[in-house]
Amino acid sequence: MGELVRAIAGDGFIKMAAVETADVTERARQIHKTLPVVTAALGRTLAATSMLGNALKADGASVTVRINGGGPIGSIVAVSDDRGNVRGYAQNPHVDLPLRADGKLDVGGAVGRNGMLSVIRDLRMKEPYVGGAALVSGEIAEDFTAYFAESEQTPSACALGVLVDRDQHVLASGGYIIQLLPGAPDALLDGLERNIAEAGAVTGMLVQGNLDSMVARVLDGFEPKILERDTVEYRCSCSRTRVADALAGIGKEELEDMEREGKPVEVTCQFCDTVYVFTPGEIREIRDARAGEAGEKPSAEGAE
Ligand code: ZN
Repeated sequence: MGELVRAIAGDGFIKMAAVETADVTERARQIHKTLPVVTAALGRTLAATSMLGNALKADGASVTVRINGGGPIGSIVAVSDDRGNVRGYAQNPHVDLPLRADGKLDVGGAVGRNGMLSVIRDLRMKEPYVGGAALVSGEIAEDFTAYFAESEQTPSACALGVLVDRDQHVLASGGYIIQLLPGAPDALLDGLERNIAEAGAVTGMLVQGNLDSMVARVLDGFEPKILERDTVEYRCSCSRTRVADALAGIGKEELEDMEREGKPVEVTCQFCDTVYVFTPGEIREIRDARAGEAGEKPSAEGAE
């Protein structure tokens, strides 16, 4: 289980979300068998997405983050529910790059920086809210900061980190997002920037302390108050019914082809690797049910 807290500080001008996701990132690593630089890229994306999801505050809402910077990883996709439970994948989990000169994993090199970070918030209204920003460095945290500045016009700071052990398992993972509300005094901004610089890397703070001590350190001097606390985990929402719905959306001809093949059809969930098997008879039932419906179902990629 990971943990997520929301805090307020600086006379209400500072809002902070912080998340500890070592278990979440480790689960993602085990499912997708990611190599370290991908574990870091995906783990950072999952941490940020969890905080965005937890902020939705609408039953059944979800947020989907997609990052594609043209690097060897390809696309990274992460989805959070309205509590901050996340799932995700990287298109190419087996990217292996040399460490950077400073000894860190080259996340920016693996992700690339020629592309977009897009955020889709589905609040269960008619149309999802879609935003995005050009990538800055592919290091993920900087890219989210740019997204907040550009797309949401909120001055903010985002820090994310994943520490991978020599045996490739996740030692620490998490991050924080700080947002300044309009009208915040300049002195507050200066003090906060100093705190953030002095506090250093997220993983260092999480290894030495915990989520609460990280919040206390970053907001030191601003009288932080924790308002909310949630547990978060790696959670996939796929089910046989949902996969059948997705199959129903792929088109009559494809379903007929599958039936004609006469072999069981295997569908693997991209997020959790669960395999769903449908017999030709079940494919026919799906096709019949589809034919019986008036409207076209929206097409679905993969199993979700
Ligand atoms: Zn799944």
